[in-house]
Amino acid sequence: MRILVIEDEKKVASFIQRGLEAEHYQVDVAHDGEAGFLQLFDNDYDALILDVMLPKRDGLSILRDLRTRKLAVPVLMLTARDTIADKVAGLDQGADDYLTKPFAFEELLARLRALLRRGVSSPAPELTLADVRLDLVTHQVTRAGKRIDLTAKEFALLEFFLRQPGRVLSRALIAQHVWGVDFDTFTNVIDVYVNYLRKKIDTDFEPKLLHTVRGVGYVMKTPEL
Ligand code: CA
Repeated sequence: MRILVIEDEKKVASFIQRGLEAEHYQVDVAHDGEAGFLQLFDNDYDALILDVMLPKRDGLSILRDLRTRKLAVPVLMLTARDTIADKVAGLDQGADDYLTKPFAFEELLARLRALLRRGVSSPAPELTLADVRLDLVTHQVTRAGKRIDLTAKEFALLEFFLRQPGRVLSRALIAQHVWGVDFDTFTNVIDVYVNYLRKKIDTDFEPKLLHTVRGVGYVMKTPEL
């Protein structure tokens, strides 16, 4: 999952970035409102963490503009201001959730997980497909009840697939969301990692879930999908 953080306090921004990267998120940071707003359109982000008080352009104006343009990215507003009026203004402009500084990183993480889960039917902090289970909190993965050890990248890749079962994902899309890079700079690394993941989650099990769509990319699905 690729997250954009727009936050001018460099300490806070790097605290969020390091914390999220440790949780296998891809994180980009912008330190002012103008740069952040432009960056939003450069990449396809899965969530935006947005400070309200920002140089050059404030968070509420960014929020208003991106909702006017029908950009549906989930937004977590982050601010030192905690009056009811500010919260209402943020939510009215289309923020999905609100967190007041100072905050505990665990709470930010929980709220982010909740935002990313919207649109996914499971209310539990886990993703499942057939007998594969991925726990978003403990990072444990099992298939048919057997523990499967994944590297950080394999985990991120599996999470990306499990969030959109049945959807064919191009290598370019996978590169952007899982590695945070453009496909041009990146070629068969994805194929190599998909094969690692396939060995671990499919080789000893039935049905096979991870399929190659020739010339297009990959899809994770059950035979019924
Ligand atoms: Ca600020």
